[in-house]
Amino acid sequence: MRRKLAAGNWKMNGSGAGLDVIDALAQAHRDPGVDILICPPATLLSRAADRAARAQVMIGGQDCHAEPSGAHTGDISADMVRDAGATAVILGHSERRENHAETSAEVREKARAAHAAGLMTVICLGESLDQRQAANTLEIIGAQLSLSVPDCTTGENTVIAYEPIWAIGTGLTPTTGQIGEVHDFIRSRLETRFGAGVGRSVRLLYGGSVKPDNAAGIFAVSNVDGALVGGASLKCDDFSSIINVLEAAS
Ligand code: PEP
Repeated sequence: MRRKLAAGNWKMNGSGAGLDVIDALAQAHRDPGVDILICPPATLLSRAADRAARAQVMIGGQDCHAEPSGAHTGDISADMVRDAGATAVILGHSERRENHAETSAEVREKARAAHAAGLMTVICLGESLDQRQAANTLEIIGAQLSLSVPDCTTGENTVIAYEPIWAIGTGLTPTTGQIGEVHDFIRSRLETRFGAGVGRSVRLLYGGSVKPDNAAGIFAVSNVDGALVGGASLKCDDFSSIINVLEAAS
């Protein structure tokens, strides 16, 4: 059985004052039936990890460098993310692929480094609107999947998030049929590459404009094991509602 996961990506939002959200979430979900992960900006990681230490909330970074140390101004290594108290890291988010020209090969090297540091990776894949309209979605997702996911993948160290780029922050979502098609495809590719044991144990999240009012439909789709939530994770009530909906779907 794959335990469901509600992950929040705060992106470049939040300050120390905003960490109260973690306390409020911990209060509202004292014994959650699903895993809860909050990924704040790097500046907040250790303070967030301190707050989460006594709660059933995991803390994750939003990126890490593939190298352990060196002349990489502005970057942080996987060991640094771990040292700050995080236990997970998002990798290959489309905003990093687009804004920082990250390739799938680089994402794979980052994932290797993250696994070596003991971090669980949330590896993001997603097609653009042009790619979907050209009926290239599965081809794009298949290529990103095989290049971004390292050979050392297990169900414990890797989560895959399917995030159509055109659905992120837009209020648009694919149909449940479209989500199911991509999730079933990813599951089948994982089983082919890693065998049924590992392939069936990797959790698959959907991400892209998940809100309290569309979460139930999305969580009912086959092979959707939770969500990676951007905007709605910044609002405690909304994220808490999404967690409740996920618990009810478990
Ligand atoms: C994201 O950035 O990973 C995301 C899914 O954002 P939103 O929920 O705001 O679409």
